[in-house]
Amino acid sequence: MSWKTFVGGVVAGAAGVLGGGSLLRRAFQREPVPPAVSEPYVHSYWLESAGFYERQPNPPLLAPRTSADIVVIGGGYTGLSAAWHLAGRFRGKRIVLLEAARCGYGASGRNGGQALATNLNFAGFPSRWADAGRCISLIGLEILRSYAARHGLSFDLRPAEYLVAATSGRQRPALEETARTLEALGVPLRWLDREAALRELGSEAFVAALAYTDGSAALHPGRLALGMKGLAEERGVEVYEQTRAVRISGGRTVEIETEFGRVTASTAVLATNAYSHALGLFRHSYFPLVTSVIAAGPADQAQLAAAGLKPARMLVTAEHSLHYLQVTPDGRLILGGGGAAHIYGGLVHGGNHKAQLARLPDFIRRVWPDLASLPLTHGWSGVICYTRDGLPSIGRLAGCPNIYYALGYSGEGVSFAVAAGKILADMIAGFPLEPEIGMVVDRPLPYVPPDPFRTAAFAARRLFL
Ligand SMILES: Cc1cc2nc3c(=O)[nH]c(=O)nc-3n(C[C@H](O)[C@H](O)[C@H](O)COP(=O)(O)OP(=O)(O)OC[C@H]3O[C@@H](n4cnc5c(N)ncnc54)[C@H](O)[C@@H]3O)c2cc1C
Repeated sequence: MSWKTFVGGVVAGAAGVLGGGSLLRRAFQREPVPPAVSEPYVHSYWLESAGFYERQPNPPLLAPRTSADIVVIGGGYTGLSAAWHLAGRFRGKRIVLLEAARCGYGASGRNGGQALATNLNFAGFPSRWADAGRCISLIGLEILRSYAARHGLSFDLRPAEYLVAATSGRQRPALEETARTLEALGVPLRWLDREAALRELGSEAFVAALAYTDGSAALHPGRLALGMKGLAEERGVEVYEQTRAVRISGGRTVEIETEFGRVTASTAVLATNAYSHALGLFRHSYFPLVTSVIAAGPADQAQLAAAGLKPARMLVTAEHSLHYLQVTPDGRLILGGGGAAHIYGGLVHGGNHKAQLARLPDFIRRVWPDLASLPLTHGWSGVICYTRDGLPSIGRLAGCPNIYYALGYSGEGVSFAVAAGKILADMIAGFPLEPEIGMVVDRPLPYVPPDPFRTAAFAARRLFL
């Protein structure tokens, strides 16, 4: 880090603490960092195999003034689900979605494709949290199933057994905590000791594992994102890509300034996930963390069988820097994790994080040496919106009752984001919410300090946890 960046960070941090709109902030804050379009090319297997790179993006919204009923900012799963559900609830209303880059270009087109039915971040919290997580995840999975069964989307959705595996005895307490959460939720599980793990996973690297089938599903994230965009458009949502919101202000009418013009609406939905701080919002509410994924293979049936891997089985390790894995229907290993990085100043440079990408193949070498010769075909990174306690929030901006948001899924956001979009639409329509969800609604997010303290706090967390 250069001195200039360091001093800039301190000043920007101090300016942030002194409060929004201050002279100091305006004097020192650089222009907001372009959230997504400025990232380098993202070599995502999911985006590539969904045909993302061959398709033309939708044109930007160039009109100097646009008036809509509802504006959704952000075209990931949260924004696309919100827009689609809103279009179903408010027929005939003008719903506009603004996406800085392209729909699915954020975490939604780059994740591990694990749609969880039990949110493991909630393990260790009082049971009402686990109940809330489970309730929201199941809403998301139900929507995903309906996308596939009733709305004709094809995104390789398949129910999958889930394995949480320990690679050292020190991870056993984490495994036990997860087991307690699952048992409290009534999820039947199997304990695998070292021998059973060796038998089932063909690896001596695992000292124990938990296996359960709780309704979690594996899927193709890129096809899902593009499919959701199509569904929203079919319902009449106007989707503008390459249109970055640069400022949003509340009031009876919400005003959104884009790079090209101004959009006004009576209601807005902020679905900008780990990029929200670039809009000046939630700047002290989460760590934007860069995390990476590789694709290897395809492996043949015999190789997969020897490693106990199959498309209907997903795995996560109980390591602090956890690894997660799914196998695609054509035998590719999709492996992510192995640590996350906080980039100084909260820069959302999530394209291809070389240091992390270089470490991921070590996991395959260590756990399944026979699979280490598989060709590595893709490697990419993305940004997750990690809150200090790992728990999300869905609600309205304080003081702006017509600006809704959902974020902070902390790396477990596939089913969650899809559900959050529906929950936001229900809130806007005034529909009653499931009582369990109340835990998450308007939940104040624990404070995350500005840089340089934030980077230091993150490093300390890695050192001491
Ligand atoms: C590498 C990686 C692996 C992951 N693996 C898993 C997994 O296996 N299982 C799981 O459950 N979760 C996983 N996650 C998390 C999950 O992908 C996310 O929680 C989820 O996709 C969030 O969806 P979203 O719509 O809220 O955000 P995003 O998909 O990030 O979408 C936000 C969108 O907003 C746009 N945007 C931002 N700022 C602006 C602006 N100013 N104006 C207009 N548009 C803007 C961005 O371009 C982006 O398209 C992973 C995440 C990453 C990064």
